[in-house]
Amino acid sequence: MAEARRRLFLALWPGPELAGRLQTVSAEAFRVCGGRQMRVKTLHLTLAFLGDVPESRIPALLAAMSRIKGRPFQLVVDTLGYWKHNRIVWGGCRAQPEALDQLVSAIRQQLVALGLPGGSDSFSPHITLLCKARPVGELPAMTPLAWPVGEWVLMESCPSTAGADYRRLAAWPLG
Ligand code: ATP
Ligand code: MG
Repeated sequence: MAEARRRLFLALWPGPELAGRLQTVSAEAFRVCGGRQMRVKTLHLTLAFLGDVPESRIPALLAAMSRIKGRPFQLVVDTLGYWKHNRIVWGGCRAQPEALDQLVSAIRQQLVALGLPGGSDSFSPHITLLCKARPVGELPAMTPLAWPVGEWVLMESCPSTAGADYRRLAAWPLG
């Protein structure tokens, strides 16, 4: 029998208060662009998408991630963007902290060393707020939101009729 696989990704996950503020921004964008709002509990910033990983590889993945020594950093979510190719509206950061780039590089190096996917995609940090949105001339301005980042997480994505449900499998502290 084929080995079971899990759909995995590594991400930064906002706490409930910040997620609530992001959802307010999402509601404002929804008024302008329509589409569908992501559910508040699913809001996140993907660091690396691994896709379907055989279960037997997960212990090595956990061990490799736990060897990474990242530094805490602060994100400031201060801009909205729209991508035509997938019709999403996203929240992003004009300034990309060096510690975020270092974390992502370290994660990707480990994924490559393990022979797992996700190590060579380009990285465009964003938080998806709306999908199936229509393009507009100008997206609303947003009040900058501070996001002190102290950990990153391994998530499993489980398909569901309401959009994927996400399950937290592990977390690693920064600093
Ligand atoms: P659904 O695909 O059911 O609409 P979803 O996109 O939220 O839901 P997944 O496709 O499992 O769920 O994706 C989990 C996370 O990984 C999301 O942040 C998604 O944007 C990102 N992701 C998914 N596929 C890729 C990919 N091929 N490359 C980069 N990131 C991806
Ligand atoms: Mg998807």
